Amino acid sequence: MTDLKSMTPEELSAWCVSQGQPAFRGKQLFQWFSRGVSSVEEMTNLPKALRETVLREGGFSAPKVARKQVSKLDGTIKYLWRLADGNCIETVLMRYRHGNSVCISSQVGCAMGCAFCASTLGGRVRNLTAAELLDQVIFTQKDSGASISNIVLMGIGEPLDNYENVKRFLTLVNHPDGMNIGMRHISLSTCGLIKGIDRLAEEGLQLTLSVSLHAPDDETRTRLMPVNRACGVDALLAACRRYFEKTGRRISYEYAMIDGVNDSPRQAALLADRLEGTVAHVNLIPLNHVEESPLKPSPRVAAFQKQLEKRGITATVRRRLGSDIDASCGQLRRKAMKAQQTASEGKGDDPAWFPYGD
Ligand code: SAH
Repeated sequence: MTDLKSMTPEELSAWCVSQGQPAFRGKQLFQWFSRGVSSVEEMTNLPKALRETVLREGGFSAPKVARKQVSKLDGTIKYLWRLADGNCIETVLMRYRHGNSVCISSQVGCAMGCAFCASTLGGRVRNLTAAELLDQVIFTQKDSGASISNIVLMGIGEPLDNYENVKRFLTLVNHPDGMNIGMRHISLSTCGLIKGIDRLAEEGLQLTLSVSLHAPDDETRTRLMPVNRACGVDALLAACRRYFEKTGRRISYEYAMIDGVNDSPRQAALLADRLEGTVAHVNLIPLNHVEESPLKPSPRVAAFQKQLEKRGITATVRRRLGSDIDASCGQLRRKAMKAQQTASEGKGDDPAWFPYGD
């Protein structure tokens, strides 16, 4: 099988020519894929022979809605998609005044092992293909009817641990013949893989880089994020400075506030020391409680923010959207996996989990 949906229009044109078809068919195919075509019959402007070849090559493998939760509070929608191989991933649609934003997953599971995160509990299963990254945007838009203007790579997985496919996805989603979403409307969040940050800086893209910092000192950060063992806070912040010098884009630092772990006045002061003089923005995230974890949300978010601002560091507190629907990533997939496991062990089933199942 050829992964046609991961190809650029130019690559699809070359493929069409190899199939004895004119090159312009490549652009037509790409346009159909970008609209979330779900059957061959829909592609009315393509000859039958080409449609059949596309079908044989698996050009229609589209994610299926395994579960969908709609927040009554703010209209946030969380999707659990079932992929062609049966694996599940999550995507969240968030509605803001400035437009609709979609938070997508980059891997099935995650290898990074952060102590507070639900996505990493079962490890990494596999990388998502560029098509699977893109389909989350296309099919969320198609299913919800909401036109999507912003993308954040902040769902399940570590995007820089799936560099090639993420890079390809950015090319596809940005393409004028497809979704045409501008790089300035895309954010990529990383736990801090330095080689990946340096590589991304070289690409010269105008996307926003978010770095999950979560602690200003190596002791705390290593406790929370095993990735910190390989390269500490100093090396990470140096990579962030290089990124800013190359791209001119302000870096956003994410900081999940955890009670008694990273929320002390001493840590706020140290964070300010480290970020002072850099063009940065700190995004304080109220910790989402994860069942399997003993870590608790901090009651000191506002005080921590005030302390940073007094030192001239811009800090905002992330609004919690979809708090009634487990909208922080990884939790829905965990629940579905557990429900499936209990069912297969014959310990009873929660049929509500797969209302759209096949
Ligand atoms: N792997 C990437 C992107 C996925 S996580 C990264 O590490 O940045 C997206 C963001 O959610 C990260 O900042 C992550 O640290 C944060 N996060 C994960 N679990 C969380 C939780 N339980 N509460 C609050 N934030 C969490």
